Amino acid sequence: MIKKMYLVSPGPVPIPEDALAEAAKPIIHHRTDIFSDILMEVEEGIKYVFGTKQDVFIIASSGTGGMEAAIVNLLSPGDEVITINGGKFGERWGEIARAFGLNVHEIVLEWGEPYTGEQLYEELRAYPNTKAVFSTLTETSSGSVYDIKSFAHVTSKTDAVLVVDAVSGIGATPCPMDDWGVDVLVAGSQKALMIPPGIAYIAFSDKAWKLTESSKFPRYYFDLKKYKKSFGKRTTPYTPPITLVIQQRKTLEIIKKMGIEALFEHHRILADATRAAVKALGLELLSKIPGNVATAVKIPEGIDGKEFVKIVQKKYDVYIAGGQSSYAGKIFRIAHLGYMGAFDIITAISAIEMTFSEMGYKFEFGSGVKAAMEVFRREWK
Ligand SMILES: *Cc1c(COP(=O)(O)O)cnc(C)c1O
Repeated sequence: MIKKMYLVSPGPVPIPEDALAEAAKPIIHHRTDIFSDILMEVEEGIKYVFGTKQDVFIIASSGTGGMEAAIVNLLSPGDEVITINGGKFGERWGEIARAFGLNVHEIVLEWGEPYTGEQLYEELRAYPNTKAVFSTLTETSSGSVYDIKSFAHVTSKTDAVLVVDAVSGIGATPCPMDDWGVDVLVAGSQKALMIPPGIAYIAFSDKAWKLTESSKFPRYYFDLKKYKKSFGKRTTPYTPPITLVIQQRKTLEIIKKMGIEALFEHHRILADATRAAVKALGLELLSKIPGNVATAVKIPEGIDGKEFVKIVQKKYDVYIAGGQSSYAGKIFRIAHLGYMGAFDIITAISAIEMTFSEMGYKFEFGSGVKAAMEVFRREWK
């Protein structure tokens, strides 16, 4: 068979053809009016996606750079912080915070378990000197979505700022920064924003800016004051990822045209179809709070999970994701994120069915695809 690759992983995601074509054009210089106009257009689009009036800064780094930028601009060595660790990315907040010598109160959750605003309220009462709470909108490792609105409700009544890793969630599930009272929102380019990896986006509320005034961490590349100053001059402090910014303009055009609500609905429908399919196959979800970004599915009894993912990826060229950390071999993940359509999901489900079937797992062949098709037929917009 001719090898044809299908990417259904939670980042990077497939890129719309219009945006791909931009990368083949001759590069332009960034200190030009042409580029400044593009940068400001991207800025407008990103502010719309973030739901904020604040500046959203464009940093040349992967999403994790945006996470580090949040920490070094807000805090000082020894500051007390709370991190909510419900998976690989929530864990990363704790790792970065400890690397910088913060005093970390880490809430460790079982992957896929919920965490409520009331629980956060109690935690903040126990640690009243907390300067910042670090959370994750969509925990990509477990396929979960957290109740950021209720976290923000709690933190807004305290001195602590709420920092949200929305790298995979932005554009896929609601998190209107200003409306909800989120203080720091971090996003990345390679998830629902539908371009290659390489841009981290970050915005600060007024409350967060205030906290930066007392921050004593050394910083240079990630010093957001430099980005703010340059933005006033319609530029960036260092060479921006020019091509990515130009590609981002293209996918933001798509997003603005369909509207952010429709983009959330798109993700919701793909997620519903995926969940219907895996349930029809007799499989179980990992998460009790499944979201719009990726579906994490438990590997059934008697099946070698690592071998399963390997066959789906290597034999069928369908790049679903395996489990990370202690969940390697125990779960697999189907992404429904960014530039993926109904038939990408159907493709992923069929490769999964073919693999399970050859590995001897007992189920009704075709039942997953059928269940997904039923959702799409009903919900097609
Ligand atoms: C992808 C992702 C990140 C960032 O990872 P990078 O590899 O640094 O881009 C952070 N948080 C979440 C929830 C993610 O899905």
